Amino acid sequence: MKILAKIPPQIKIGALRANVKMVPYIHADDNYRGLFNQRTEELQIDNQLGGRARDMTFLHEIVHMADINYESRLDESDVSRIANGLFEFLYYNLGIELDWSDICETP
Ligand SMILES: [Zn+2]
Repeated sequence: MKILAKIPPQIKIGALRANVKMVPYIHADDNYRGLFNQRTEELQIDNQLGGRARDMTFLHEIVHMADINYESRLDESDVSRIANGLFEFLYYNLGIELDWSDICETP
């Protein structure tokens, strides 16, 4: 059974806030798929992404937020591994998929 979990326009993790936005050209300009900017309080995802790539990128940025908030001092590959494990648990064990309908036109 598939369960859709709606991505809210604003994420809160501890003291951090992020407005979730789909943004063009992140990958083309900076070779990232997404980013979290603590100063602007934006969690940006490249708008060319969809499906699992978009969901995995989002979880990756959420792990970055948790890392910053809880001062875990993870490196980039730690963040990727934790995000991948989280993704596998949510998708393949709980059947949860992310619903982007409040963020962009391609849910
Ligand atoms: Zn990263």
